[in-house]
Amino acid sequence: MTAKEAADSVLRQLEAAGYEGWAVGGCVRDTLLGRTVHDWDMTTSATPQQVLALFSHCVPTGLQHGTVTVLESGYAFEVTTYRAETGYSDGRHPDAVSFVGTLAEDLARRDFTVNAMALDVRGRLVDLHGGREDLKDRLLRCVGEPERRFREDALRMLRAVRFSAQLGFTIEAETRRAMAACAGGCAVLSAERIRDEVEKTLRSPEPCRTLELLDYGMLRAVGLEPGTARPWPSVTIDSPATAWAAFGLAVPDFDPTTMRLDKKTGRLAVETASLYGPELTMDRLKRVVANHGWDVGRCLCTLYGQAALAEELERSGDCVTLAQLAITGRDLPVTGPAVGRLLRQLLNHVLEVPADNERTRLLELAAIWKENTL
Ligand code: ATP
Ligand code: MG
Repeated sequence: MTAKEAADSVLRQLEAAGYEGWAVGGCVRDTLLGRTVHDWDMTTSATPQQVLALFSHCVPTGLQHGTVTVLESGYAFEVTTYRAETGYSDGRHPDAVSFVGTLAEDLARRDFTVNAMALDVRGRLVDLHGGREDLKDRLLRCVGEPERRFREDALRMLRAVRFSAQLGFTIEAETRRAMAACAGGCAVLSAERIRDEVEKTLRSPEPCRTLELLDYGMLRAVGLEPGTARPWPSVTIDSPATAWAAFGLAVPDFDPTTMRLDKKTGRLAVETASLYGPELTMDRLKRVVANHGWDVGRCLCTLYGQAALAEELERSGDCVTLAQLAITGRDLPVTGPAVGRLLRQLLNHVLEVPADNERTRLLELAAIWKENTL
């Protein structure tokens, strides 16, 4: 059973029990665009308790928001009760969530017109905010009055840039004006939410649009000021580390700690960005791997669009790491910290003269160099 068939089965069960059930949000947008749908989110007139009672396999994942996760034929679906939100005194979260009677009220709380459409099991579309027209014109437009929507929840401004980069859409003029006016509101956002939106924008087909976030002033909360970016580098992005390395190349003040990146990704991104230069040759790659390790070496190759170079080096079996040296620290005529230093010296030599990676020859060199190394 496909995810769509399983989703339809959930919607049919809701209807058979006398409730309304609709696929809503991103899945409707992506269906109409002919894009792959990754999550079928649903909205229903049933209360969370009624949803829990109706389905045998479900998890009350977010009851305070009205969300129950329904498990059907190996797929998981978020089923949320028609909902309205009020308050937003912190610029991010509604003060109160109330369950409402109609689909129309639920659609009105959603962020963008293209995210505010619903589709039922028979393929009937409900589009009360002109979402289909905006899809056709490739426009991202707020539902309702943009300034009010951005003052309610500042995250929507980052989402606007992110969706427009993911979909290749233009941000509609009124929505854009409101972003410029309300960007200061992003100060209340947590670094983690900012990080997640920035990373999604970086990993979109138009990663350069991440700089719009900077230039609107939406990244001030993580210490990044407008007007500080360099031109966007034409690099390949295929992982979080390459995404953040590209960001580091364009934004010199980028600090992975402020942005709350995990330690490994942050280190990889910063180290890789610091090594990015005009050209990547096999010789240079060997040095990078020897001094910074394979993770950085691979990441750098990807940025240059030369993943094949890393594969070629790996296949060649050439010695580029301490582990590949024909001797180990135990074979050396020194002890303590001198062991590491002598091994590094031998590795550097073998990078220049690969034929010397042979036990007798390395011991000979070690005997000569040990005095200098001590
Ligand atoms: P994605 O492909 O990134 O999952 P999506 O449209 O499904 O896109 P989600 O973040 O999963 O986005 O949210 C699901 C839906 O919930 C959105 O389509 C939108 O209708 C609504 N939504 C999510 N976040 C907000 C928000 N901050 N303000 C208003 N509506 C929102
Ligand atoms: Mg989604």
